[in-house]
Amino acid sequence: MKFWFITGSQKMYGEETLRQVEADSREIVAGLKLPFPVEYRLTAKTNAEITAVVKEANYDDECAGIITFCHTFSPSKMWINGLSLLQKPWLHFHTQFLDSIPNEAIDMDYMNLHQSAHGDREHGFIGARMRQPRTVVAGHWKNPAVQQQIADWQRAAVGAAFSKSLKIVRFGDNMREVAVTEGDKVEAQIRMGWQVNTWAVGDLVKEMDAVTDADIERLVEEYATLYTFDSADLDAIRYQAREEIAIERILVREGAMAYSNTFEDLYGMRQLPGLASQHLMSKGYGFGAEGDWKTAGLTAIIKAMYPDGAASFMEDYTYDYAHELILGSHMLEVCPSIAAGRPRIEVHPLGIGHKEPPARLVFEGRAGAAKAVSVIDAGGRLRLIVQDVICEKPFQSMPNLPVARTMWRPAPSFLDGLKCWILAGGAHHTVLSYDLTDTVIRDFARIMKTELVCINEKTTPDALERDLMLGDIIYG
Ligand code: MN
Repeated sequence: MKFWFITGSQKMYGEETLRQVEADSREIVAGLKLPFPVEYRLTAKTNAEITAVVKEANYDDECAGIITFCHTFSPSKMWINGLSLLQKPWLHFHTQFLDSIPNEAIDMDYMNLHQSAHGDREHGFIGARMRQPRTVVAGHWKNPAVQQQIADWQRAAVGAAFSKSLKIVRFGDNMREVAVTEGDKVEAQIRMGWQVNTWAVGDLVKEMDAVTDADIERLVEEYATLYTFDSADLDAIRYQAREEIAIERILVREGAMAYSNTFEDLYGMRQLPGLASQHLMSKGYGFGAEGDWKTAGLTAIIKAMYPDGAASFMEDYTYDYAHELILGSHMLEVCPSIAAGRPRIEVHPLGIGHKEPPARLVFEGRAGAAKAVSVIDAGGRLRLIVQDVICEKPFQSMPNLPVARTMWRPAPSFLDGLKCWILAGGAHHTVLSYDLTDTVIRDFARIMKTELVCINEKTTPDALERDLMLGDIIYG
């Protein structure tokens, strides 16, 4: 994915000034150190040029968004027709080529060239007047903190592009009687672009039967390079490899980057996928247990925003009120990207589901600041809920807990954090991300026009209740 840089100007300054505007714009673009490339596209001088470049941006699948900046004045009526067609994320970069005013050099020509201070106000007005979702970044382009805001927006825009073409495969339905994993798949597609469809578990079993011993051996060798085998039950480990290969073949065939399954529908399968789902997540696939296609989608998006990051499907499981910590884990499926050390492959019985003991990765999550992110169907719309958490090294070894685990303390404080999460309707399933920032998720929600509830050190339960009521008015 890449981003287009469009500089706003107009014809009245003459060719020499416009050449300088272009040269300066190219220098700005070259000076941006960002996770995704930016390409200087043009200095836009007319309504026709702006309309044409917006149409091209809309059409180009590799263009993840546009960045605009008015080096000179660029009258905004020229922008209305183009902006009204814009379907890509928009960042208005309110910068200036030089960071200070040269005492001797400044004259009227200089001011006419370096006038984003008023050109960008005209540009900001039309964005506000048209109520176009946009991210505004203000500051000199060489400032690393300013560049970081653009980097965050890029991640959000890449996540948005990914979301809009995301396919989610459901193996089986949602867990019986569970409310929060349900949701309006049509609304999710309208809003997020997700194509959520179901595949028979029998089709997966057929695919599993077609996996050869040689395929399995290759994957087991890969497991050995990444994980420590802590079980003699190689047959159980091989079976997980068979499941992983079959699931991935279906995902690849369907062009899907996320899937869900449920322990209640494993007809014809001997084990609930554990190690299989964990290793698939580490490769970037989104996953949701118990049919939770929404968390599967969200996991995939956050992994797409941070390809080398640490993010996992997660579940709030058990509290330690005394130490003010939440134990996060799952029956099996926690991504090893969040592991503090080298994960072990173990085989243990599963208390539910009446299947054979599945192989799984066991590890402790790493310590550090993170975010728990939930997406719920709030009735007619999706709501994103993001809570700041501090992950701590588990203070006990928990030798009889044979699953990956992590412990964290939510913001603003343990008890208010719990209260806020419950008030907001946050699910027990989340994505735990060590990379996601407030700026990224805010930009993402803005681009997707989706309700966002952030719970952080500044949140109080009373203020949150009011925000939720406002959300009901705005989005309800
Ligand atoms: Mn669960």
